[in-house]
Amino acid sequence: MKKSFLTMITACALAGCGTQQNQLSTPDVRDFDYVVDRFADLQILRYRVPDIEQLSLQQQELLYYLSEAALQGRDILYDQNCKYNLTIRQLLEAIYTDERQDRQSADFRALETYLKRVWVSNGIHHHYAGDKFVPEFSQAFFEQAVRSLPADKLPLRDGESVDALLNEIVPVIFDPNVLPKRTNQEAGADLVLTSAGNYYDGVTQAEAEAFYDAMKDPNDAEPVSYGLNSKLVKRDGIVGEEVYKVGGLYSAALEKVVYWLEKAKNVAENDQQRAVIERLIEFNRTGNLRTFDEYAILWVADTASTIDFVNGFTETYGDPLGMKASWESIVNFKNIEATKRTETISANAQWFEDHSPVDKQFKKEKVKGVTAKVITAAMLAGDCYPTTPIGINLPNANWIRAAHGSKSVTIENITEAYDQSAIGNGFSEEFAWSANETALMAAYKNQTDNLHTDLHECLGHGSGKLLPGVDPDALKAYGSTIEEARADLFGLYFMADPKMVELGLLPNDSAYKAQYYSYFMNGLMTQLMRIEPGKNIEESHMRNRQLIANWVYQKSQADGDHAVEFRTRDGKTFVVINDYRLVQKHLGELLAEIQRIKSTGDYAAAQEIVETYAVKVDRRLHDEVLARYATLDIAPYKGFVNPVYTASFDSDGHFTGLSIDYTEGYAEQHLRYSRDYSPLTK
Ligand code: ZN
Repeated sequence: MKKSFLTMITACALAGCGTQQNQLSTPDVRDFDYVVDRFADLQILRYRVPDIEQLSLQQQELLYYLSEAALQGRDILYDQNCKYNLTIRQLLEAIYTDERQDRQSADFRALETYLKRVWVSNGIHHHYAGDKFVPEFSQAFFEQAVRSLPADKLPLRDGESVDALLNEIVPVIFDPNVLPKRTNQEAGADLVLTSAGNYYDGVTQAEAEAFYDAMKDPNDAEPVSYGLNSKLVKRDGIVGEEVYKVGGLYSAALEKVVYWLEKAKNVAENDQQRAVIERLIEFNRTGNLRTFDEYAILWVADTASTIDFVNGFTETYGDPLGMKASWESIVNFKNIEATKRTETISANAQWFEDHSPVDKQFKKEKVKGVTAKVITAAMLAGDCYPTTPIGINLPNANWIRAAHGSKSVTIENITEAYDQSAIGNGFSEEFAWSANETALMAAYKNQTDNLHTDLHECLGHGSGKLLPGVDPDALKAYGSTIEEARADLFGLYFMADPKMVELGLLPNDSAYKAQYYSYFMNGLMTQLMRIEPGKNIEESHMRNRQLIANWVYQKSQADGDHAVEFRTRDGKTFVVINDYRLVQKHLGELLAEIQRIKSTGDYAAAQEIVETYAVKVDRRLHDEVLARYATLDIAPYKGFVNPVYTASFDSDGHFTGLSIDYTEGYAEQHLRYSRDYSPLTK
């Protein structure tokens, strides 16, 4: 298994590509072509990696090894998202690269679009909405294409026939009733049995909950993240975990991850970072969740290093019960200049906590170790690729956050790509109430978006506390939405505070209005463009945004203050904010209630507020938004391609430099990844 990538390094060294000088440079924003591809509801962008040329040779080497470790986990996520994903990806890629195909036929082009969507979603379910894609190529075409492939191109198991393979896969692709949802959040259903995600096999929701309830000790002040790195299965009537580790589930991929982490360890920037990498390697080898917590604590404390990374089982959005983590990686380095902004926020964390509008008993007396920085992403992988968060706050374990703090990042080269590629697309002219709002957003939206992300990540998630004895998982399926709402509200509430101007974070006392207006326009209206007709809102960030905007709107109606309202003009609906100060007041009221729900683990109240405000869609408004949006031809979702890094080594195998290439296409990149980074399909 390891031979193939060892060979690759040797080949590179022999080719002598280390002789070129000055291989790292950053193109100017104005000369950079951000758009790579456009299909279905997606636009694929590329991102710059500014200042990579400032890294030392050792830092470049570290970045390279961490990037390789990142790419090796790609297959894990496909398998986690649905157990048929890897087989389907292999079949589609085999057809796509089959030179005998008529590439201009309608079926082939539909298959190409479907495959591109599979790459975006790391599987057959929409990355955001969670619904299974509807293929627009015929079943007959697909079967014929598969049958015409040579057997060595097919993902056949030992002794399996092509008929058996097709019998298994065809319904998964073509029958809308088979595995329709990746992560089902619909109240009342068995969320485990009705979700296509591969975190459970043969167990019901009740069995899964009983299994983990039995593990939990209510007196344990430092509980591990139960179930985080395993699949829960029922075999011969017995429920048990299959752990993701070297020698366990996903071993072939994790061995390669560990191989590159070992190399990274040897060129770590300092002892603290080396300890972080060592502990992560140990966790990958043992699967021990206590080791994972030790790793997380070391990682939080590493604030001195320039290069940083996440690599492993991290976020739990894909598990309907919110325990099991999907694999992801992001390799990055500190944006020194922009980080001064987040350092200002962090330095004042206690002031914000003290002045937040929540009940005193739910506040932290002492906010610990809220560190925040702005980073430049250098490699995205797993659940961070090709669709990418713009901010991350980790670790997720509540007790670690309380005792050791958390690390929070804003990924500014990604937001740059979003902003630059959106210039002149006509969106705000169509949906904003007047030229005033459009001008406000043109002037301050980018700046306040970045600031809101900082506040959300480094103050919002880190604020507040649970009352003693409250189970951190008490809100169950509503937990993610409530937590995201809490963090968003914290950011929104304080953005309108004079403290922002005082600290130099905003230029004047009306800039925040750009954020308020765009947030409400999005939460009450325009985010509906991402929902298919007739569907409700499932994804927890979208739920949280509608929850906030809709609650404040309803509150302002109930109070009769008309702080926020809908108005129509020429048959079109618009969001209007009449009184920004009153909006801030309502945001504070909601923050107090959301924090109370979180702090007390009030499941009934979480269910009530989410189901009332966050889930249901106004059909008439939804249709209108879709129709107006369609006239603009803007892709509602963006994905990214990574740059291509090539490392050079001298004849002794010593690293001599890194080069970066931004020109790789979208399909090219995925086909290369499937060829070079696919340990679970070989
Ligand atoms: Zn968040």
